[in-house]
Amino acid sequence: MPFTDNRYFKANPRLLASASGMFYQTPEGREILDGTAGLWCVNAGHGRSRIVEAIRDQAGRLDFAPTFQLGHPLAFEVAARVGALMPADLDRIFFANSGSEAVDTALKIALAYHRARGDSTRTRLIGRERGYHGTGFGGISVGGIVSNRRTFGPGLPGTDHLPHTHDIARNAFTRGQPAHGAARADALEGLIALHGAETIAAVIVEPLAGSTGVLVPPAGYLQRLRDICDAHGILLIFDEVITGFGRIGAATAAERFGVTPDIITLAKGITNAAVPMGAVACRRGIYDTVTHAGTGIELFHGYTYSAHPLACAAALATLALYQDEALFARARSLEGHFEAAVHGLAGAPHVIDIRNFGLVAGIEMAPRRGAPGARGQDLFRALFDTGLLIRVTGDIVALSPPLIVEAAQIDTMMAMIGAALSKLP
Ligand code: PMP
Repeated sequence: MPFTDNRYFKANPRLLASASGMFYQTPEGREILDGTAGLWCVNAGHGRSRIVEAIRDQAGRLDFAPTFQLGHPLAFEVAARVGALMPADLDRIFFANSGSEAVDTALKIALAYHRARGDSTRTRLIGRERGYHGTGFGGISVGGIVSNRRTFGPGLPGTDHLPHTHDIARNAFTRGQPAHGAARADALEGLIALHGAETIAAVIVEPLAGSTGVLVPPAGYLQRLRDICDAHGILLIFDEVITGFGRIGAATAAERFGVTPDIITLAKGITNAAVPMGAVACRRGIYDTVTHAGTGIELFHGYTYSAHPLACAAALATLALYQDEALFARARSLEGHFEAAVHGLAGAPHVIDIRNFGLVAGIEMAPRRGAPGARGQDLFRALFDTGLLIRVTGDIVALSPPLIVEAAQIDTMMAMIGAALSKLP
């Protein structure tokens, strides 16, 4: 089982048997309010009939089609729709099946781009401490989570890391973007001085880091990264696997923060998680450079299930649903209520920081002495058993409800969390 204490789980399994709208149901028929949109992915809520029907219909029409040297029309339709949601000219799309694959693909496209330009010394990839980019070898190498890295050897050669942006001493209990920390982007200048810009292919960051506990970018930070990359010919990749498709009240974090990267990785919300799919969006100049490199097949990369017809059908239905229900705008209109509600937990036992942006929030608890992460696990289990699904990383609670959440359900979540915190040792 992924990221799971297998023996503990098997001794006391918590299972989900069905889902609809804002709720999961357990095999015993208990209702669990979904505070995390599954794993940050079911943005339109569960069991949406339009998506279900699209998948069902597609399975009977075209179950599978290879996309190596072939294509099928749906793939191009999805690419056009995704491209139209991306900022600037990032409308060239490559399909994968997960966030991890999208990350690997993005890193490889960055390398292929420099190679196609004849800039073949640019092979170094820069990630960030506390970055999460999935669990492929590329993702863990640029990622910055020690437990995901240390067991698995040295990873990709030639990676390095920026410092993370989390500064609880100066920014605790900030609403929205923290005021302090933009200067941490300047560490990229230090890495350039150390390695030489001519060796660096790309910088990859989550514009808002989710999995390591909701780290909202300090005001000005992303623009500084963009400026430094521009000054040194380095590509900037935003990993928007979580932030894509409405999570922070816009199609992308790039749009919301007003900073345009060169490559964006996507997954999760692209199909409302009903069928696995990942995608990479690139600037036209990158696509043109790679495809005009003159070698025939330019990118020796892809997956059997790239642009799988069922995923494409799910994506088209999902994107239409987002549009027809104006769900990104809905997320934006709810964020004030969400912010006030989550910050209402300030002062609750154990809480040392609360942070939020869009429909994402992190609630950080002080670790129990000698047992980091134990408090988080206890809270997760207590809330599941009383009917709320949250996500915890260590002792940090992450909330990211489906964008269809009602204000009253947000209040219910906070009341349940408050009650559970007050009973937590
Ligand atoms: N990148 C980011 C920013 C993510 O949050 C995740 C998953 N939480 C991934 C990549 C990996 O996605 P997957 O689990 O679909 O491989």
